[in-house]
Amino acid sequence: MAAKEQKTRSRSIWGNIGLASTLLLALAAICQMVLAQGDADLAAAGETSAPTASVGTSILFQNVRIFDGRNAALSPPANVLVKGNIIERISSEPIPVGPGVSVIAGNGRTLMPGLIDAHWHAVMASVPQPVLMTADPNYLQLLAARQATATLMRGFTTVRDLGGPVFGLKRAIDEGVVVGPRIYPSGAFISQTSGHGDFRFSFEVPRLPGESLSYTEAVGIAAIADSPDEVRLRAREQLRAGASQIKLMAGGGVASPYNPIESTQYTEPEIRAAVEAAENWGTYVTVHAYTPRAIQQAIAAGVKCIDHGQLIDEPTARLMAEKGIWWSLQPFLDDEDAAPLVNPVSQKKALEVFAGTDNAYKLAKKYRIKTAFGTDILFDARLTTRQGAILAKLIRWYTPAEILKMATADTGELMALTGFINPYPGKLGVVEQGALADLLLVDGNPVENIKLIEDPDKNFLVIMKNGTIYKNTLPR
Ligand SMILES: [Zn+2]
Repeated sequence: MAAKEQKTRSRSIWGNIGLASTLLLALAAICQMVLAQGDADLAAAGETSAPTASVGTSILFQNVRIFDGRNAALSPPANVLVKGNIIERISSEPIPVGPGVSVIAGNGRTLMPGLIDAHWHAVMASVPQPVLMTADPNYLQLLAARQATATLMRGFTTVRDLGGPVFGLKRAIDEGVVVGPRIYPSGAFISQTSGHGDFRFSFEVPRLPGESLSYTEAVGIAAIADSPDEVRLRAREQLRAGASQIKLMAGGGVASPYNPIESTQYTEPEIRAAVEAAENWGTYVTVHAYTPRAIQQAIAAGVKCIDHGQLIDEPTARLMAEKGIWWSLQPFLDDEDAAPLVNPVSQKKALEVFAGTDNAYKLAKKYRIKTAFGTDILFDARLTTRQGAILAKLIRWYTPAEILKMATADTGELMALTGFINPYPGKLGVVEQGALADLLLVDGNPVENIKLIEDPDKNFLVIMKNGTIYKNTLPR
């Protein structure tokens, strides 16, 4: 009797497995059909989105002076040949114009690497917070696609996205469906309950076991996780979706009303769980943190990059230098580009952060900390137009050449910290042979006049990303 029961059960298990594998095969077939359909659509979309697509062709920049991303001095007049998506050759001697080579006459203008923003939010940058929290997610994605195009047209050829549902947008850009920058996505930022990423409505808290996700979690903006196990799970979910690095909220923030700016968030074991998940995937964790305590705890847990850090002290800056920790720092100041904040608690916190910015840049310079440039623009379409102008503000602390180096070669080095899951393997942020061809032709010399980058519409005459020209306003 028992044997018969056993046999029946095993047959039904095998039956189920058989059914499951049939379903899987069917699903795979459907997926292939969908992919094929997608490819057909994309071919058409790609053609329209790349006005002077250079796929399979070569482009020769003649008579340009190069800012290579590293050296303060511009090169003597030179010629730069781009083949496919790579800078193939740089020479002060003439490069022959072979068949299939299009020529761009630089006439002595400056050729420099595309700019990189290490703290961007592609979906949240230009949308007011109440809209972000209530609108149809598809509408938000369409706005994000338009903003992505604007971002590239400002000369930012790469962004590191530090939170938000950008995996679809990134895919659409990479496939040529939408025009935009390269995106290094983090996916949802991971936050503890009450942390800087806890934007839940009051009626969504407390979360009960088995309850459905809150709105910001369901749409992929935030992932609330408490305990090392939950943090590990959330980190792995982002990696599965294609995150190139993990973003964790490790301390208090300005825009979030439920946590003091002085608060330290997570415990060392919780942060370490994310670090282990990321490092097993070849990549790293960056954290939002302002205070010495929050920064120190994150470093002890193995974090490789600190975002913000305006309230840092000297011993913590020294620690960052000693450990080779990256500092993704933003010129937050009490000026016309201060983020719009309605709530007085946030306004008070913002003033504290603004007051720390000067000290932070001075310490970054004093201890020669590896520093990346980022804007962290949120919730404001007007502010997005200031992306280059915000970079130019670094003139308070750096020479123009140092500013340009930070937003190209240096920040490009931070992108490469993503290791074997780097979505864009190759050199970014430099003009050198073999590097990825992300290039700007500037009308003038930004090493002498950094203000040129404040007005990309006027001064960036050619914008190339991955060997494709997306803007060319040179007279023909
Ligand atoms: Zn941010």
